Amino acid sequence: MGHGEREEDMKVWIDQDRCTGAGLCELLEPIVFTIGEDGLAVVHDGDSVLPAGPAGTVTVSPENERQVLEASQACPGRCIRIDSE
Ligand code: SF4
Repeated sequence: MGHGEREEDMKVWIDQDRCTGAGLCELLEPIVFTIGEDGLAVVHDGDSVLPAGPAGTVTVSPENERQVLEASQACPGRCIRIDSE
């Protein structure tokens, strides 16, 4: 693993079972997160909204990674799942 090099893409999905729908994620990173019609968080992939759960995994643009990480740490349900692989 190199230092300061981008080895892996960051991927993110929402575990809706734990989501409170309070919308902190959308507040922190509206490019990636949104509150869906059922009142729970989902992720965007460009203009489309992905399904809930691991099926709705999106690759995060490098410029959004920091905010996604911040949202995952702030999320009260601990339901923002980040994979780096
Ligand atoms: S911050 Fe977490 S609990 Fe709140 S809406 Fe987003 S995913 Fe759900």
